[in-house]
Amino acid sequence: TPVIGVLALQGDVREHLIALAAADAVARPVRRPEELAEVDGLVVPGGESTTISKLADLFGMAEPLRARIAEGLPVYGTCAGLIMLADKILDPRSGQETWGGIDMIVRRNAFGRQNESFEARVDVAGIDGGPVEGVFIRAPWVESVGAAAEVLAEYDGHIVAVRQGNAIATSFHPELTGDHRVHALFVDMVRSARV
Ligand code: GLN
Repeated sequence: TPVIGVLALQGDVREHLIALAAADAVARPVRRPEELAEVDGLVVPGGESTTISKLADLFGMAEPLRARIAEGLPVYGTCAGLIMLADKILDPRSGQETWGGIDMIVRRNAFGRQNESFEARVDVAGIDGGPVEGVFIRAPWVESVGAAAEVLAEYDGHIVAVRQGNAIATSFHPELTGDHRVHALFVDMVRSARV
């Protein structure tokens, strides 16, 4: 059984732990480099990406995260987590740094304030059994992807799910819906990466 960590600095950690357990992984919170070293895969939850980034710096996690992701550690980022896995954020004035892993440019808070939260059915490549219920909470979208990245889903003409190698990211939050198919896809990725 793969051991999958959930980065537990800020955000909806508990919901991911529950979803991963439901998808037959052993799930545990990860806050320290020693804990990161012990997992076969990692979820970066939704929350607030600037806060997650600052806390990762404070906890000495930014460099270990960059290094393990670059080595091919399977990672799944939702919403703020998607932002942290992007090689680039659109607004360069923000000075906000990411850990990277997916060759894509993201636009934060892209779906706009008036639509702070909405749900929509989203077809995700590689997920059978119909669309998933996408929960978008001040969500980013992906402005563009590089050649190595595969678009898994679009909503309203915007890219909202991407995969590159062992890294996957969604603008939305499957951990909030009780539908564990995206987590199951990630658990499968972790299983095949271990072999
Ligand atoms: N707007 C947040 C950010 O930019 C993401 C919101 C979320 O994770 N639900 O980090």
